[in-house]
Amino acid sequence: MAWDFSTEPEFQEQLDWMRDLVREEVWPIETVFEELGQAGFERAVAPLQERVKERGLWAAHLPPDLGGQGFGQVKLGLMHEILGTSVFAPSVFGNQAPDSGNSEILAMAGTEDQKEQYLHPLLAGDLRSAFSMTEPETAGSDPTLLQTTAVLDGDEWVINGHKWFSSNASVADFLIVMAVTDPDAHKYQRASMLIVPAETPGVTIVRDIATMEHPHEHFGRIGGHSEILYEDVRVPKEALLGPRGAGFLIAQQRLGPGRIHHCMRWLGVSRRAFDMLCERALSRYVHGSLLSEKQTVQNWIADSAAQMQAARLMTLHAAWKMDREGASAARQEIALIKFYGAGVMHDVVDRALQAHGSLGYSTDLPLEAMYRFARAARFYDGPDEVHRQSVARQILRGYEAPADGVPSEHVPTRREAARARFAELLEAVTSND
Ligand SMILES: Cc1cc2nc3c(=O)[nH]c(=O)nc-3n(C[C@H](O)[C@H](O)[C@H](O)COP(=O)(O)OP(=O)(O)OC[C@H]3O[C@@H](n4cnc5c(N)ncnc54)[C@H](O)[C@@H]3O)c2cc1C
Repeated sequence: MAWDFSTEPEFQEQLDWMRDLVREEVWPIETVFEELGQAGFERAVAPLQERVKERGLWAAHLPPDLGGQGFGQVKLGLMHEILGTSVFAPSVFGNQAPDSGNSEILAMAGTEDQKEQYLHPLLAGDLRSAFSMTEPETAGSDPTLLQTTAVLDGDEWVINGHKWFSSNASVADFLIVMAVTDPDAHKYQRASMLIVPAETPGVTIVRDIATMEHPHEHFGRIGGHSEILYEDVRVPKEALLGPRGAGFLIAQQRLGPGRIHHCMRWLGVSRRAFDMLCERALSRYVHGSLLSEKQTVQNWIADSAAQMQAARLMTLHAAWKMDREGASAARQEIALIKFYGAGVMHDVVDRALQAHGSLGYSTDLPLEAMYRFARAARFYDGPDEVHRQSVARQILRGYEAPADGVPSEHVPTRREAARARFAELLEAVTSND
């Protein structure tokens, strides 16, 4: 019977190396990022990226023939737990969103020409990309409602639509756009993905939207979320990415591993906040004792540890199942971790912030930024409610309503049946009395 929670010693060594690199070399960059600016940041991380490549850990999410490691989701998950501790770490390891997900789409569905033109330069860091699906006018949680269209006109697709929250679009060289190409098809076969170079006439990046995470509008920066107008945008027929009508299918295949990586990165954030919570508990003196001696704070520590442990095991189990049985077999496990993991990160960061009082609320600590980051995780890549609904539906498929409407555990009904079954014994016992 195989039931093993250990990590191979050679891979553990890689993880230890990664943890040291991220902590010693990447965390310090966080504090001077604004002063460095994008160009300075790229110079600062370039030597680190070389070290990662030499170590064989660059773009590890991709198959070996594309320069990745073919690690599988469990190992990738363990890596992402370390990368999640800093928003800058994924760039150092060649798997920053949305480029990492887009490279997976290109690897999975791209033609040889598309791989040559977009995937290889993306992996080499020579191009940047964005994924453009969500629209302001329709619910992103239900992409069957998409309104953006792509109509074939001779040898060209003509795209019209309005998108927003296309991350990194204002600095991207190309956009992967989800558009309705087959309005009369089955609702999950109406949309396709198309590659649109950002410079194509008719593409207007309206703005980078100020958000809770980045409250000040700042155009043209990595990490921005763009609003985009597509007005009679013409791209060649060959811009279609994957089969016509396969937009949802490709998106689903990409989202499974992506959610595992998200959840593991959130655990990295949670762990960092948890360490701050414990450190604070041991140093802050109030009302006659340290915070560590107050039962409420002890409960926060114990509850956070339990939740993080549960989320970690659930996520690694989902990764293990995906490695063994594929993404669709692990659908329920992935939906579970998406909402559970987001909630754990939110709760742990919230407790750490509370324990620090005004210091936690201030920008002198990273907790307020973590809190703003954590809030969005509860709805991007599918809101909590949608994942809960999906889990409940899948679970309920294994049940049926009792035929007569009486609950199967109804004690009087069971007692009656048991009396009939044990009638002889009951008779004997009663007559002995
Ligand atoms: C930081 C960030 C980055 C993003 N990056 C990208 C990107 O790169 N590309 C891109 O295309 N999009 C991106 N998005 C958009 C994201 O994918 C959408 O916000 C998400 O899909 C939800 O869609 P919506 O915002 O339209 O909310 P809606 O679909 O309008 O949902 C709003 C709320 O309705 C409720 N709800 C929805 N469905 C149900 C249900 N079945 N039952 C009960 N309640 C329900 C939930 O509370 C939900 O939060 C990003 C968003 C954020 C915050």
